[in-house]
Amino acid sequence: MSKYIFVTGGVTSSLGKGIIAASLAKLLQARGLRVTIQKFDPYINVDPGTLNPYEHGECYVTEDGAETDLDLGHYERFLNIFTSQANNVTTGRIYQTVINKEREGAYLGKTVQVVPHITDEIKRRMLQLGQTGDFDVVITEIGGTVGDIESLPFVEAVRQLQWELPEEDTVVVHLTLIPYLKAAKELKTKPTQHSVKMLSQEGVHPDIIVCRTEKPLTPDLRRKIGLFCNVKQEAVIEAADAPTIYEVPLAMMREKLDLICLKKLNITEYKEPELTKWKEFLDKLNYPKSKVTIGLIGKYLELQDAYKSILESFIHAGAMNECQVQIMNVHSEFITEDNVAEKLDGLDGLLVAPGFGHRGVEGKITAVKYAREHGLPFFGICLGMQMAVIEYARNILGLKDAHSTEMDPNTPDPVIDLMDEQKKITAKGGTMRLGSYACDLKPGSLAYKIYGNETISERHRHRWEFNNKYLEQFENAGMIASGKNPGSNLVEIVELPDHPFFIGVQYHPELKSTVESPAPLFIHFIEAAKKFNEEKSSAKSSHAGILL
Ligand code: GLN
Repeated sequence: MSKYIFVTGGVTSSLGKGIIAASLAKLLQARGLRVTIQKFDPYINVDPGTLNPYEHGECYVTEDGAETDLDLGHYERFLNIFTSQANNVTTGRIYQTVINKEREGAYLGKTVQVVPHITDEIKRRMLQLGQTGDFDVVITEIGGTVGDIESLPFVEAVRQLQWELPEEDTVVVHLTLIPYLKAAKELKTKPTQHSVKMLSQEGVHPDIIVCRTEKPLTPDLRRKIGLFCNVKQEAVIEAADAPTIYEVPLAMMREKLDLICLKKLNITEYKEPELTKWKEFLDKLNYPKSKVTIGLIGKYLELQDAYKSILESFIHAGAMNECQVQIMNVHSEFITEDNVAEKLDGLDGLLVAPGFGHRGVEGKITAVKYAREHGLPFFGICLGMQMAVIEYARNILGLKDAHSTEMDPNTPDPVIDLMDEQKKITAKGGTMRLGSYACDLKPGSLAYKIYGNETISERHRHRWEFNNKYLEQFENAGMIASGKNPGSNLVEIVELPDHPFFIGVQYHPELKSTVESPAPLFIHFIEAAKKFNEEKSSAKSSHAGILL
């Protein structure tokens, strides 16, 4: 039987509940337990797939093609495991299930209500992964902030489960903020007291309080929080701001968050945490031997979370290369033929990001052209790959008006076109080409060298595709399809063999990059950027030599 840890949040959003949950999971996993994490989101969308990145950050796609909350990305990156649709549940999904059942007549003339019908469905899903027998511990993160109207049924479900399950089967961890008031030169506990009070009013009492804070918590303060919030002093945990999210598991270990949970759950069989690989990664991350600057060409740059998995993949791949990766955000809407050289000056590599719609597309195409012509390492992901194809069609194949039918439905040369099966689809939610697909690699290609494998599998999230009618023209002109889906022959990878590093992929390699197993494409892209940087510096110094 599984044990259940619930993580709630108070005072404000964005405290890093997902990171705390993932860190706790990492520690329990390092102690030899089988752990998974799930996220319950109180919003009414059935999944975040239809949300604009500005609303909720990146949409993370799992192996089984679920469009999920970006916290699932943290879970996978920390734990090096796959999650699935079962790991992300929204209010919309809960209601959809209950309403469908009601239409089928499953409630036999009863009035369908939030309690017990909605809460029963929430509880069923909270217990589901635990009942597979695959996990010793299931951590459930409740999205939102305690006191929100939307999160009430979820907190109520936790209350009921605490009552139904044996005392030693559940733990509630509450994450709050202890703000520092500069004028008073003091850390303030009142918001935490209020948020615990609110949670208690809803019937759930936390066993552990994790306090986000800018300054260390003194023993006096811990005592005060413990006393007023009715938790033991040792269960008041300090979560100080960390230089990187990857330090948080170690910080939580020092605070004994894992041990306090294990004690409450009456789990007695565990080992000392095995974190060798994790610590090696941190060492490399903290003491890089070189540095590169990568341009991230996108249009959702105002929001840090919009390209979360890409940014994290750079951290993993940078550490692997013992290289600090500095990201320079370049807004694609503002790139023109006239300013591209200036905008991309100083870069050692260019990543053109995924995206939807026509905004910023021409800037992306201009940036690709610059990278192609200047031998600058180029990596295109999804829309980024499509932009590389369009650029090549326009400037090398001479198809001046080539485009994707996503942006120009009437283009004479639709080098990127809607897949046949997509043409019939009108509904937007969950209807893209989603999840993991196989890809065969061409022996001798860059992709083949990078992966060291003939067949790979990567995750997708798109509707448009390379138009195979143009493939021969492209290959004759030097852009090859080095990866194809075995069943459908869809082009998944394009590359330019004559360029030092130019690769575009239709899939999202960033979704499978983890601390312990960084994505091969990112590792090799950083390697190419390092080489570009070294060659640039040696060219400069030999030039300086001539001048002397
Ligand atoms: N908009 C493009 C498509 O749907 C690319 C999607 C993406 O970059 N994820 O094909």
